[in-house]
Amino acid sequence: MRDLRTALAWVAEGTALCRKAIGGLDEAAYGKPSRLPGWTRKHVVAHLAGNAEAIANLVRWARTGEPTPMYASPEARAVGIQTGAALPGARLTAWFEESARVLADAMAGLTAEQWQAPVVTAQGRTVPASETPWMRGREVMVHAVDLGAGIEFADLPGEFLDALREDILAKRGRAGVPSVHGDPAEVTAYLAGRPYTGVTTADGDPADPLPPWL
Ligand code: ZN
Repeated sequence: MRDLRTALAWVAEGTALCRKAIGGLDEAAYGKPSRLPGWTRKHVVAHLAGNAEAIANLVRWARTGEPTPMYASPEARAVGIQTGAALPGARLTAWFEESARVLADAMAGLTAEQWQAPVVTAQGRTVPASETPWMRGREVMVHAVDLGAGIEFADLPGEFLDALREDILAKRGRAGVPSVHGDPAEVTAYLAGRPYTGVTTADGDPADPLPPWL
């Protein structure tokens, strides 16, 4: 369902959606709450910029063979988000753009062999570097919606939503998730632990929210 080329296209498309969402924000709106509990829109963008740098570390690892973890520590990740969220909007947007550009260049430079090199994610999973475009694509697509600035799950590509539902079901464990009905974009939002409407169980009752994911 998702190959490397498709996942790379999703990175570019999700980045463009974030850019579109951020582009309409003045300083006051940038500092308003996102849809993620406790995070302003600035926190989300700071997290996205830090995430681009973290994934670029994995791409570097794949290119050089020298282990470079995503984040120095969970604390360093959190500090980066807090520090970034305190920046003026224009500087934060510049960080987002620069980090995305550096990551795109790094990914464009990997050989077929380097894409197969094993790297270790922040969760401790060993994956081929070819998994990193999916990891990044998921971040920019879902957080574009979390910004609460005009992008909805229904705006994301249908194939991406299909792949995301598969990924979340595999991670949550199919046994732990009731089978539900609804518009595919809304079902994806439900599975992602995001706000949703019109998702029902087999009995036709409204589905209860799932715990957060990602
Ligand atoms: Zn994230």
